Amino acid sequence: MRRIQYRLLTIIIFIGVIGMITPIIYTKSLALNQAKDTIVEKLRSHSKIFILYSNSSEKDTFQKMTEEYSIASKLRVTLIATDGTVIGESSLPIHQLSQMDNHLSRPEIIDAKDEEEGYASRYSNTLKTEFIYFAKQVDQNQFGFKYIRVAQSLKSVENLASKYREFYYLIIAFIIFVIIMAWFLLKSWLTDPILELTKAASDISQGDLKRRVAIRTGVIEIDELADNMNKMTIALERGYTGIKRMEKVRSEFLGNVTHELKTPISSISGYIETLLEGALNDESVNVGFLERSLENAHRLEELVTDLVEISRIETGELKMNFEYFNVFDILKNLTKDAKQRNSNKKIKIDLDTPDKRLFIYGDKNRLDQVIANLLSNALRYTDEGYIKVKVSRRDNEIVFSIIDTGIGITPKALKRIFERFYRTDKARDRQKGGTGLGLSIAKHIIEAHGSKIFVDTVEGKGSTFSFGVTTINPEQ
Ligand code: ADP
Repeated sequence: MRRIQYRLLTIIIFIGVIGMITPIIYTKSLALNQAKDTIVEKLRSHSKIFILYSNSSEKDTFQKMTEEYSIASKLRVTLIATDGTVIGESSLPIHQLSQMDNHLSRPEIIDAKDEEEGYASRYSNTLKTEFIYFAKQVDQNQFGFKYIRVAQSLKSVENLASKYREFYYLIIAFIIFVIIMAWFLLKSWLTDPILELTKAASDISQGDLKRRVAIRTGVIEIDELADNMNKMTIALERGYTGIKRMEKVRSEFLGNVTHELKTPISSISGYIETLLEGALNDESVNVGFLERSLENAHRLEELVTDLVEISRIETGELKMNFEYFNVFDILKNLTKDAKQRNSNKKIKIDLDTPDKRLFIYGDKNRLDQVIANLLSNALRYTDEGYIKVKVSRRDNEIVFSIIDTGIGITPKALKRIFERFYRTDKARDRQKGGTGLGLSIAKHIIEAHGSKIFVDTVEGKGSTFSFGVTTINPEQ
């Protein structure tokens, strides 16, 4: 595995090198070939001119002819006989001619022998420079030589090549500049942001959910990736906080449940133990102990029922059964029950309703349960005065208010009475039962009806709990 930046660099350099080499190779070979072609063409003309010149020349030796023509044309001229001996050479003094090797094996002469003319370029050992040679075959009988060869040194072409070289350096410098630029741009657009994203991902995977990616490259894909990564982290953070909170709520709930269950269970076992240890035969206490055990058993039953109810509501297991019905009879029965339970208290209990046609759309049993609960709270926390179930119409709602002249609720407690297991100390002191779950169940049920419970209370004066239920039947 290699880092993306090095891979990109390799690709850029590869492209750059190809970009450099291609024009160099191409222009170099093209330019040199063109220059050579021009020289070959020039040499061909000169060979023809030399033939004309040799015909009309009054010079007596071949060597003189080559020297003279060479001075005029600035070319090297060689005359070769059929057997390959050099009989005239403009670049050497006459006495050295005999030392020259046989020229029949020179490539341009081989070609000239077969195809009338031929050319070649090579390094001349005699003159220590690169030459282009052009040879032409003529009639030995007519001219006294078999091959005329003219040659030009490649110095001029080399000059041309050096000019091209300057141009190549320019191209190379330019391409290197482009490579560096491309590298920096790629680095800031791609590799640096990817590096930052990778670092952030690694931080997040190690639990740093506060980590955010702060990059803005202007490259859509990268910026979107960064945005989405931030969104993902925010979602993770929220989910994590939610889970933490739920865990806390759950463990608190469990703590409360155990605490609430423990009290009645330990009193029941206390009474039974005392009875078994002899109190069973003491007629002054045995019935009383049994009655208190039964009270605690009832309390346990009440607690367990409420617990089952609230856990069903919270897991969404509890389904509401909505129907359109007249709530009047329910209200009437509930107030009647309350009056019976209140028989030994000096509290006036009333039902105050505009008429008997109180049709609403809701879950009959659940609403019965809510009103019963609010009524039993009112009874539990009221010592004198009155309790009133007041019904009124408002827009498309029937509003139920359970009003009492009881102990009221402090502003501090008011914020918490809908919490599970929350009970004020005063409520605990009253020893009149209650699980601390009633209001939180009621709140859930009313919310499932798309409504809310409102509390209006003055400490020491009384409380009013109210909520509205729709009169519109959506099934019609
Ligand atoms: P509980 O079973 O203890 O009544 P609830 O959830 O019904 O539990 O009520 C929570 C607390 O709200 C009660 O413990 C009590 O302190 C307070 N509360 C509820 N209704 C009234 C009321 N009508 N008057 C005064 N306090 C009330």
